[in-house]
Amino acid sequence: MASRRPSRNAGGPTQGFGSPLTLAIALDFTPAVTRRPAPLTVSRIPRMTLDEFKSAAESLRADGPAQIAAAATLEAWTDARNHLVGRTSGRLSELMTALGTLPKDDRREAGQLANAVKQELEALLDARHAELMRQQQRGPAIDRTMPGRAAWRGSVHPVSLVIDEVVEIFRELGFTIALGPEAEHAWYNFGALNFPADHPAMDLHDTLYLDDLVLRTHTSPVQVRTLQQYPPPIRILAPGNVYRADPFDASHAPMFSQVEGLVVDEGITFADLKATLTRFANRFFGETKTRFRPSFFPFTEPSAEMDVRCGVCKGTGCPVCKNSGWVEILGSGMVHPAVLENAGIDSERYTGWAFGMGPARTALARHGIPDIRILYDSDVRFLEQFAR
Ligand SMILES: [Zn+2]
Repeated sequence: MASRRPSRNAGGPTQGFGSPLTLAIALDFTPAVTRRPAPLTVSRIPRMTLDEFKSAAESLRADGPAQIAAAATLEAWTDARNHLVGRTSGRLSELMTALGTLPKDDRREAGQLANAVKQELEALLDARHAELMRQQQRGPAIDRTMPGRAAWRGSVHPVSLVIDEVVEIFRELGFTIALGPEAEHAWYNFGALNFPADHPAMDLHDTLYLDDLVLRTHTSPVQVRTLQQYPPPIRILAPGNVYRADPFDASHAPMFSQVEGLVVDEGITFADLKATLTRFANRFFGETKTRFRPSFFPFTEPSAEMDVRCGVCKGTGCPVCKNSGWVEILGSGMVHPAVLENAGIDSERYTGWAFGMGPARTALARHGIPDIRILYDSDVRFLEQFAR
């Protein structure tokens, strides 16, 4: 209000009259309207006839439902409610105010109409509010047709699958499992198996030595340990990990699994070897052709590599079999008499045969896997294909 009293301090026509009384009179002449705004309510009340009131009420009745239905959120619902039936500025409250200006005889009819419209709109607002609350509680929309996420199941490694299957087939043929240490005495790993210390075959077997222990280079030491411990007849299968001075490339690994087999009894011949291993190959690979090729191992004599028809190309030649049509699956032979004697078995009375196979190579041949390193990568995308 200070700005409305410029005459007190600022220069102007009253300056110079000097008397306080004059100043007070000048203040009083300030128009009342500008000093204090008049209440607006009186002037804003629309004066209506009954027809105009009815028309306004019906218009509200007609507009309301669409506005309420259009409220898609709780905020929009609140806006719609304030606009339609809000106590201070809603369209209904304006009607109710106008009601008081109608002629007394018309007020009863107009009041009933306004109440009816009010009840209708409030019922619609309540229903819409309940629906919006339900939607909010349901949370975001869910696609119920989306397929569920399958539970993640582990699987047995392809190499372990081969070992399990080999063990199972030989179990049916009367073999039992024998195990030995992976850190083996050099005598069990080499000397007892007829390896001369300077033999070229030793090159592949130069692995890590731990004083007089060596990381075993094959599972064959288990043969000697078993022969020392149990009298013939013996039919054992010895699965386990072995180590070599091999590079880690597409077909070699410095650590791999091996499965060893040994049979020792009276009268065992090469025919037993061929019959048993052929039976195994036909069980493991399905009906297939086999062949034996002469080979050399220090601890068997005679020795033979065993091949089966390539399962990928059925013998016509492919990269897996290097176009030969055959895949080598194991080495075998008649147990060298020196090995039997080293283990304290009478080699004049007993004979035996043995074999050793690499389940990783077998898994490669079986599944047409081009690189042995894939088996050791622990890549889930590869391994989960073997989940059953
Ligand atoms: Zn092939």
